[in-house]
Amino acid sequence: MPTPKEWLERIREISAGQHVRVLNVCGGHERTISKAGVRAVMPEGVELIPGPGCPVCVCPEEDIFAAIELAQRPDVTLVAFGDMLHVPANVPKRMPRSLQAVKDAGADVRPIASPQEALRIARDSPEREVVFFAAGFETTMAPVASLMAEGVPDNLSILLAGRRTWPAVAMLLESEAPGFDALVAPGHVATIMGANEWRFVVDQHNVPAAVAGFHTESLLSGIYSAVRQYVEGRPFLDNCYGEVVRPEGNACAQDILNRVMDVVPANWRGIGEIPASGYSLKPDYAAHDARLRFAVDPAEDRKRAGQMPPGCDCARVVLGKIYPDECALYGKACTPRNPVGPCMVSDEGACRIWWSSGIRT
Ligand code: SF4
Repeated sequence: MPTPKEWLERIREISAGQHVRVLNVCGGHERTISKAGVRAVMPEGVELIPGPGCPVCVCPEEDIFAAIELAQRPDVTLVAFGDMLHVPANVPKRMPRSLQAVKDAGADVRPIASPQEALRIARDSPEREVVFFAAGFETTMAPVASLMAEGVPDNLSILLAGRRTWPAVAMLLESEAPGFDALVAPGHVATIMGANEWRFVVDQHNVPAAVAGFHTESLLSGIYSAVRQYVEGRPFLDNCYGEVVRPEGNACAQDILNRVMDVVPANWRGIGEIPASGYSLKPDYAAHDARLRFAVDPAEDRKRAGQMPPGCDCARVVLGKIYPDECALYGKACTPRNPVGPCMVSDEGACRIWWSSGIRT
């Protein structure tokens, strides 16, 4: 495997005199790019654009609203991945703005690191209703589905906010101005769903695509492949993470996902509904669906919740239309200590990644 310096040299040579915009769709990729300073050493003509790679950032307000309401019930213990607790919602003044605010007011809200923790908490507290607010992409949904398939106690239910990555990229590609020329596809998601899931980028849109891993070398090899395909006018799907990603992915994980969840149209925060971009629990698991169990009405919550905090440009950041530091609030009103929008909260949010990597306006 060439060293990072050698990959950079190759990218420089192949891109000479060209302008190529390369989109990534994974918070892990953006973290590697920002922390390692990859963007700063790219040739002038190669733009690296962070795209829809953060499931917390796109979790719609109505779901956060529902979670906040459920967490305020005295019989409920609400558990969620840590980032989700701090995501601010644009809620009516009388309500707490985040799950953390509900917790600070005395409610039983707990951060967890894995679905197994939700199971343990439910088993340890049979007298409580334990609601697992599960937001994530396919890599998170597969273990959530596995948890459900193995069987969970009666008192555990799921408030599901799962999203699929490729439909957001398809929506961009089908728009008038996709804003990118080549794609670096997410290695984690491809581990589960297979590299072939990204074949449509090449076959239907004639756009270069390369699946990449998370070490600097693997990511640079993906960027090099995407740029080279573009420059040579010869798009194909390149799997640059072959040591982990198989063309068809993980059949066992996909089978469990298919047995437990349906694919449904889903709302993305600030962006709107994207066809076939979300998951819901199949009817067999209705008893563990928090929306049904607690009569959550997404349409009603959508009316009551806002879309995005005023002034927050997260939706355009997520879609790769602007860089984080082009938001007027970046580093001023909005910092990780005092986040205005979800992109500054989540470890996978581009605004937080840029700020914590020392990128200032
Ligand atoms: Fe939203 Fe803050 Fe990012 Fe601006 S800097 S887009 S307000 S999260």
